[in-house]
Amino acid sequence: MSLISVVGPCSWESKEQCFKTIEFLQGKVDYIRSGIWKYRSNPDTYQGNPEAIEWIKEAKTKWDFKYVVEVYDTETLEAVKDIADMYQIGSRNMHNTSLLKYVNKFTKPVLFKRHYCASVQEFWQHAGYLQDVQEVWLCLRGVMPMCNTDKRFQPDFDDIMRLKAYINTAGTNHKVIYDVSHSTGSVDLIPASLVAAKAFGADGIVLECHPNPTEALSDPLQQVTFEEFTKLRKAGLI
Ligand code: PEP
Ligand code: MN
Repeated sequence: MSLISVVGPCSWESKEQCFKTIEFLQGKVDYIRSGIWKYRSNPDTYQGNPEAIEWIKEAKTKWDFKYVVEVYDTETLEAVKDIADMYQIGSRNMHNTSLLKYVNKFTKPVLFKRHYCASVQEFWQHAGYLQDVQEVWLCLRGVMPMCNTDKRFQPDFDDIMRLKAYINTAGTNHKVIYDVSHSTGSVDLIPASLVAAKAFGADGIVLECHPNPTEALSDPLQQVTFEEFTKLRKAGLI
């Protein structure tokens, strides 16, 4: 069974970058994903660009694709309700129970990411706040390393199986998605991570892909180029 693919640049940066990416990825992936607003640890770094709402509206008249976008609060959620096919609730909002409750009012599926310090049990319990959402995709994205502090995050492949055990016991239709970009923080680890995610039983993957990663305004080290994406696809990893 092939993995569900959710692919795109970390953030939309310009109309040109947005259109180039969508033109390349449409028809090749299940969902195109990229941030309009970015939740950054450092306020002096790129925070996204709300003009991207208009770029996506226009892109939707040119190409047929499904779009996943991260929402942060009721305002951002309302702002993208006409262009989003799936909402993402990111790591930093896993504990935001008022946002989780609010998202139940919409009929869209939700990609729900684990906080990088949350246990699997805590992640699973918080997913319970999305009880009215028809389709919830639980996304593992690496955890904070305990000792090895020279990397951003520690892969959490084994938790795919732990989450699956919760799902099987509860008898729900949640999917488990593995984010190979944020969990590794480095493109060289991505091919092996795609193999591992599948081996541990993931239903799908999130992958960051950018037309020119070295120039990316956020997460430049973990985004594959179009050429690298094509190679991964030819190898049957996506
Ligand atoms: C993202 O998915 O764009 C992101 C910032 O990841 P996370 O919320 O997992 O840190
Ligand atoms: Mn990113």
